[in-house]
Amino acid sequence: MTNQNNAIRFYSGHNIPVELHKVRIVQKLYLKPIDERKAAMEEAGFNTFLLNTKEVFLDMLTDSGTNAMSDNQVASMLQADDAYAGSQSFYRMEAALRDVFGKHYVLPVHQGRAAENIISQVFIKKGDVIPMNYHFTTTKEHMELNGGKVLEIYADDALQIKSDKPFKGNIDIEKLKAVFTEYGKDRVAFVRMEASTNLIGGQPFSMQNMRDVKKICDENGTMMVLDASLIGENAWFIKQREEEFKNAEIKDILLEMCSYSDLIYFSSRKVSSTRGGGIVTNSKDLYLKMRDLLVLFEGFLTYGGMSVREIEAMAVGINETCDETVISQSPSFIAYAVNQLDDVGIPVITPPGALGCHIDAKGFLSHVPQQEYPAGALASALFIISGIRGMERGSISSVRDENGNDILADVELLRLAFPRRVFTLSQTMFVVDRVKWLYDNRNLVGGLEWVEEPALLRFFMGRLKAKTDWPEKLVAKFKQDFGDSL
Ligand SMILES: *Cc1c(COP(=O)(O)O)cnc(C)c1O
Repeated sequence: MTNQNNAIRFYSGHNIPVELHKVRIVQKLYLKPIDERKAAMEEAGFNTFLLNTKEVFLDMLTDSGTNAMSDNQVASMLQADDAYAGSQSFYRMEAALRDVFGKHYVLPVHQGRAAENIISQVFIKKGDVIPMNYHFTTTKEHMELNGGKVLEIYADDALQIKSDKPFKGNIDIEKLKAVFTEYGKDRVAFVRMEASTNLIGGQPFSMQNMRDVKKICDENGTMMVLDASLIGENAWFIKQREEEFKNAEIKDILLEMCSYSDLIYFSSRKVSSTRGGGIVTNSKDLYLKMRDLLVLFEGFLTYGGMSVREIEAMAVGINETCDETVISQSPSFIAYAVNQLDDVGIPVITPPGALGCHIDAKGFLSHVPQQEYPAGALASALFIISGIRGMERGSISSVRDENGNDILADVELLRLAFPRRVFTLSQTMFVVDRVKWLYDNRNLVGGLEWVEEPALLRFFMGRLKAKTDWPEKLVAKFKQDFGDSL
């Protein structure tokens, strides 16, 4: 492929993203009548995690383990070499990871959080701090379990919903310096950078920021750890948004990002569209520190809790991360959806990022108090009127303090995930259309209250109900506007 700016090439004229793949295996979807969708939502306790996918039309809950596999990935699974130790499948994957990440030592794990467990156990001691651009749910839990404290040192305006800053995932360099001054380098376990920062709207960091962070790490003799679960998309944004890289090959961008990282871990459920995960490094010393725990928690060194079929598909998937048509697909469809909604004044996180379209529920349902969970209400309402399943990322996903009061979230988001190469443009247009209808009728949507509230990770299994009869009113208006149409 010649060097040219592919941002233009992947669009047909007026910002219409084009699928650079064709569909060869399909799964039938069901769009149920609205009364059935409402009943399903009530049955699920107004919690989209508790829906059965038989009731769901477009499943935009997450990109985790839901990206579409390529024909080459599926084909590779047939050559899987079943062996407890020394499987050829592992060596193929190891070679792919060495090639793409430029790291020699490879530790396979069953999924991303398993890598977090091992890294946290080995490198964090009680009283340590871990500065980072932003936390991820499982990352933070593992770090705290090992006595560490997460310090989020993003720029002051990184959580602003509407913005034109290209790299909201950057670490604030002055704040990083201040961390070393305040705590001293011995208490900084390592610095963590997360590619395409998941919980703040899939926002990338720049290469320049990585260089600046690495410089400070070197000055203090501290490791830089990269969470590479969404590294492909971050590399794509560097190419699109950072002048220096506009003609660079993705493979070279990835290698440069990895060169600044002493340790890299990832969830293969995202980065290579399979299952599993891994940790890679060039340091034999770091590798040896983690190796024994890998055998204890995950499995032998040549499978790490993964099936050999997954390992084969991961080898192919990692190589496909260097392919612009693969890593640009989700961001370009997200950009399409975000721009369509932004154009009519619907509050969404801008600039468009990776992973999904993030709707600001506080702005969308400004009449619903935060104590009544606007992001959860919006997720429920959207499912009822469309069969689209999104994920609440607001106060339901938060916790209570020691006095039993809700700790209200910084932002109330409804995330509509775009797993890679799963949805077509017409399905994306359907999403935009239904969100617009809901926005026009937003005053009909009310709040939620708890019916069953688990003490731990309540957002996964908790059940709620509507505080008023707003779902009935919403259904009535839908029928008035759409008649018998689904
Ligand atoms: C998903 C994710 C993880 C955890 O990976 P799992 O495979 O789900 O355990 C860690 N970090 C980031 C940034 C993620 O998106």
